[in-house]
Amino acid sequence: MALLLTEHDVKQLLPMADLIDAMERALSLFSTGQVNQPVRSIVELGAHGFFGVMPAALASPATAGMKLVTVVPGNHARGLPSHLATIVLLNHETGALEAILDGRYITEARTAAVSAVSARHLARRDARTVAIIGAGVQARSHADALARVLDIKELRIWSPTAAHREAAAREIEEMTPAPGLKSRPTATAQAAVEGADVVVLVTSATTPVIEDAWIAPGTHVIGVGACRPNQREMPAALVGRARLIVDSLAAAMKEAGDILLARQDGVDATISAELGEICAGVAAGRTGADDVTIFKSLGLAVEDVVAAHLVFERAKASGAGAAIAV
Ligand code: NDP
Repeated sequence: MALLLTEHDVKQLLPMADLIDAMERALSLFSTGQVNQPVRSIVELGAHGFFGVMPAALASPATAGMKLVTVVPGNHARGLPSHLATIVLLNHETGALEAILDGRYITEARTAAVSAVSARHLARRDARTVAIIGAGVQARSHADALARVLDIKELRIWSPTAAHREAAAREIEEMTPAPGLKSRPTATAQAAVEGADVVVLVTSATTPVIEDAWIAPGTHVIGVGACRPNQREMPAALVGRARLIVDSLAAAMKEAGDILLARQDGVDATISAELGEICAGVAAGRTGADDVTIFKSLGLAVEDVVAAHLVFERAKASGAGAAIAV
């Protein structure tokens, strides 16, 4: 028998607060060589989208699995999210199927939890203002996750569609776990970013959405979109002057257009460390109040598998999910 866990099940079993600590451990395991994981394969569906095949195995917690994630930007017109995903969890000892889980919510939440881990180590302790560029699924989950690790007082949000940024700002203020947080849409990206302590890029854009001159010393920039080698959200000059942290060095060299295209432009985009090395205490986090830090997130299979394993263990303990004969 295996367990089928729906998005509703996963949401009940995986609160954001627990997920941030779980992701800190997962990143640390990854960057200390305790995870078997190739860089994901990308399979084109056609001009309308692609899917990623993301397997990982680890000995502690003993688990193995794979996420299949589809990216279809045109889904919004159908009333569907642009990112959909399914996670298959296997028994590490036998290889037997243990669970099939909805991966959409895990993708939404674990990505923001990882960014919160980056803020924990790289944002200034006195960071109070967050700018979010993009107003979709990740904008909302990032507001939730960042408010759990930073004492945010003001959140500014911009995306090209006024109705989307206004709705996102309203929803964020309603749902935020940070009491007293003011969330507002801005008329331009520049108005959101200038003076912000933490800048989050969560867009489907393929060319830079901010300018280097808008980023002041001491800012922590989190780049979450642009997960293909021909896409970028950040200007080369910013990438060149920042202390650059990635989730996976191997993946960054294959997928991170923000870094690869900056290098093509002749910029010295040297990667300082993997975030997991900082979590494990083998690399430094922020080194000074004036550092501009960038965390370039691509998304790792180990994040999905560790999150799915946590949900599976909790489902077994609580009786959640539907048993399926296999
Ligand atoms: P959504 O499709 O829900 O939202 C995309 C947002 O991008 C929309 O709000 C859209 O604005 C905005 N946007 C598009 N073009 C621009 C632009 N030029 N400037 C500013 N904003 C723009 O996507 P998600 O929130 O699910 O994902 C956001 C990004 O994060 C995607 O690139 C996705 O692939 C990536 N991602 C990365 C992960 C990781 O692990 N690193 C995991 C999951 C997703 P509007 O609404 O106004 O049209």
